[in-house]
Amino acid sequence: METRLCSQCKGEFDRQLEECPHCGTPVPIPNYPRFGNGVFVAMWIFFVILIIVLLVSMFTV
Ligand SMILES: [Zn+2]
Repeated sequence: METRLCSQCKGEFDRQLEECPHCGTPVPIPNYPRFGNGVFVAMWIFFVILIIVLLVSMFTV
């Protein structure tokens, strides 16, 4: 079982809990990496589509 430390009371509790059982402070959800991955994947897809469009236009002209 992984534990984390509360930022308010420094108490230790289960990582899967959404708030500290000692003082009730909600755990900040790290959504930044997920957002970064989404942007990265979107850029990748855009890049691949751009390459395909370039290739198709090269062969059709
Ligand atoms: Zn706490």
